[in-house]
Amino acid sequence: MDMDLILDRIEGMVAPHIAIWDDPFRILITGIMSTRTKDEVTDRASLRLFCEYPTVQKLAKASPREIEKIIKPVGFYKNKSKDIVSTSRIIMTEHEGKVPTTMKKLLELPGVGRKVANIVLSEGVGKDGLAVDTHVQRISFRLGITNSEKPEETERILKRRIKRDRWNEVNSYFVEFGKKICKPVHPLCDICKLKEDCKYWRENEGSN
Ligand code: SF4
Repeated sequence: MDMDLILDRIEGMVAPHIAIWDDPFRILITGIMSTRTKDEVTDRASLRLFCEYPTVQKLAKASPREIEKIIKPVGFYKNKSKDIVSTSRIIMTEHEGKVPTTMKKLLELPGVGRKVANIVLSEGVGKDGLAVDTHVQRISFRLGITNSEKPEETERILKRRIKRDRWNEVNSYFVEFGKKICKPVHPLCDICKLKEDCKYWRENEGSN
């Protein structure tokens, strides 16, 4: 399966997902909130949060209880509120108020896993990153690119198969493709230009 062709075809079907922020700190904090939460819920909470606490300095001085009230109904909002405040404090005390720009340092921040770190690298600080979220994982599995259900393994496989200068395209296009066409339930295979290359289609629709 030619991954350049797969990416080109997806890009021919959907526009890229546009993040609500381009500032690395806001991307990071929104990423912490996003785990197991719908994008629409996360985005609304992020807007509310940065209206009240627009900077890392202000968030570092907040109490998690105050943040809880603002970001609810984000999933696991109590733990995430603690992570948001702790991460802001670490950025102030150990990184001079700036978001770290390496995977290693990002992973040391509370609430930050590989998905969030990759999003910060690719969308926030202009480095190469390939974030495997639920859409990237599902689509890669259906296409037969990965047999693993572990995002870390899928990230390794995708990074091996996709040229580095295209890593940053993967998440934004796969997310939109996953919302509009390769949906979690009832994917729209009839209109999908990847049918012939898709393991899921061959095993399900294609055998009818
Ligand atoms: S053919 Fe269906 S399952 Fe396969 S990528 Fe397209 S929409 Fe997803």
